[in-house]
Amino acid sequence: MRRTLQQAAKALPVFTRHQTAIQAAPASSARPPICVYPSAPHSNQHQPHGLAHLLVVAAGSLIAYELVSSRGRRRPGHAESVDEPAAAALKDSPAPRATDAPSLSLTTSVKEGESDSPLVEGGKYEVPRHVDDFPEAMQKLYSELRGVLGDRASVDMDEREPYRKDNWTYHKGEVPYIVVYPESTEEVSAILSRCNRLRIPVVAYGCGTSIEGHTVPVIPGVVINMMNMSEIVAVHEDDCDVVVQAGVQWMELNELLADTGLFFPIDPGPGASIGGMIGTRCSGTNAVRYGTMKDWVLQLTVVLADGRVVKTGTRARKDSAGYDLTRLFVGSEGTLGIVTEATLKLAARPADECVAVCGFPTVKDACKCVSSLIKAGIPVACVELLSADTAKLLNDDQDCGLEVKPTIFFKFTGTSNQVQECIETTQKMASRFGGSRLVFRMKENGESEKLWAARKGVYWSLGSQRPGKELWGTDVCVPLGRLPDVVEETQKDFAELGVEAPLIAHAGDGNFHLLIPLDFSDPEQMKRAQEANSRMIARAIAAGGTCTGEHGVGMGKKQYLLQHYPQETLEVMRSIKKTLDPNNILNPGKIFLD
Ligand SMILES: Cc1cc2nc3c(=O)[nH]c(=O)nc-3n(C[C@H](O)[C@H](O)[C@H](O)COP(=O)(O)OP(=O)(O)OC[C@H]3O[C@@H](n4cnc5c(N)ncnc54)[C@H](O)[C@@H]3O)c2cc1C
Repeated sequence: MRRTLQQAAKALPVFTRHQTAIQAAPASSARPPICVYPSAPHSNQHQPHGLAHLLVVAAGSLIAYELVSSRGRRRPGHAESVDEPAAAALKDSPAPRATDAPSLSLTTSVKEGESDSPLVEGGKYEVPRHVDDFPEAMQKLYSELRGVLGDRASVDMDEREPYRKDNWTYHKGEVPYIVVYPESTEEVSAILSRCNRLRIPVVAYGCGTSIEGHTVPVIPGVVINMMNMSEIVAVHEDDCDVVVQAGVQWMELNELLADTGLFFPIDPGPGASIGGMIGTRCSGTNAVRYGTMKDWVLQLTVVLADGRVVKTGTRARKDSAGYDLTRLFVGSEGTLGIVTEATLKLAARPADECVAVCGFPTVKDACKCVSSLIKAGIPVACVELLSADTAKLLNDDQDCGLEVKPTIFFKFTGTSNQVQECIETTQKMASRFGGSRLVFRMKENGESEKLWAARKGVYWSLGSQRPGKELWGTDVCVPLGRLPDVVEETQKDFAELGVEAPLIAHAGDGNFHLLIPLDFSDPEQMKRAQEANSRMIARAIAAGGTCTGEHGVGMGKKQYLLQHYPQETLEVMRSIKKTLDPNNILNPGKIFLD
């Protein structure tokens, strides 16, 4: 049946470019009876529409499908013809039934004590003392977790295996022994207290869109998939805040808030969860106007490594009471505690919105225009810069009709008057730096949304235009005035090293990414890309910037923290980690080199 489903799924248009993994879920579980997952477990990162599952239903020779969000809401998809036997097999296959606890199969794909991550020195990691106890400890843990969670604790290899690899980068790690799907803070507490007692590593998994190997287990243990914690607990419209469980996805939250006149403005990768966004201290295209994740979290419920539950912050907009523990957890990448609930500030939805593009002679001219706009206090809502090769990619893949030159995508929001005023000042400023006339895309005929979706979908466009290549998304951030020089020098450097690297920049924040298409299995290509990336990071740090503006440290940026911070600073970070997680069970192998 698995092969037939795979065949059927391949016939569906949404997956034409991407691999799928098929999962028949136990009938009694919270998941739909048959799910077709994108190539990462329970996440939607290959669907830029924020939808979690694809429910496939057989009907004669047609496969109809519905896109099912993690909150159970459904949207119909297109019906697609597939061959008769595939449809018949689907139709006839009995609904899977819940089974008794299967026996635990302790297979992992990498030998104990070794890792094939290119960034673990010598392919070895230090084997923690407790690894020797794994088989017995894991058996014990598994039966205890089944007692707490029933079939929401799984040892199914098909379910566990995809966690080994980060879908968005070259990082690889270990297959976890157990995957669990808690539904409440109490269940997370029960899981962590047991893992801590048995010294078993735990990785929190939101939607897996982070791109520095954050969710890849470095030591095999337990993955806590937060997808079932997707309740909106309370919306306080008058206070402009919302209380959510950590598995809620930002796009879905905004859909649900549509009628309130409010929205949550942080917009990282499509489908990212609030817990994961807190984990990486993310941002997105709206950051120039609204700031980053750290600015929008008021209150957290966090389960510590030993199972204790702490609450941080209040719902008040200002709070000077003691240490700011909320911000300690924001950006901690699941290494200090597991967030189960968050109170988030909400912003007013702007009355009017307008999108325009503007071409510039060089990337440097475009960057200079942006820093002048910010310095002059022009309240642009988004300023996204694309290099000429990125503009060409979008034309080739999305038919965007852009001039093939460095291009800024502007978004203006506010009242009609504010938008108009902002457009006029921006046009004047752009002209000073050789920019073309702004070309507007209208909201009424859906053009502005289409253009913005194309910008958000650069990653997919690059993937489809470079078949057979994988993508490595880099991330640095510098003080605004340094952006023109740092970008120019970096592009020159990449060109000299022969590394293709289309640029996208959240230019209003001094934050830029180069997207490198390459073959991860080719050591020569990897070496050149690593070299170019390291030089870019050194340049950013020398300019007073950071090795990561929004993606976080994960596995990929660990070694750069040494360039970033003095030893004393790192020691303080380590002592915080030791205090909150003395047994180092929470996402070990991330942030710190040792
Ligand atoms: C196409 C694309 C575009 C992107 N664009 C942006 C962008 O513009 N800006 C940006 O900042 N990022 C961007 N990202 C990166 C990504 O979307 C963010 O890092 C996002 O915050 C990750 O959310 P997630 O739910 O997928 O988290 P995951 O990947 O599941 O987890 C991220 C980290 O948080 C931890 N974690 C997860 N849940 C919890 C929890 N409940 N409690 C504690 N820790 C937890 C994990 O252990 C991990 O360390 C992009 C990614 C893609 C693929």
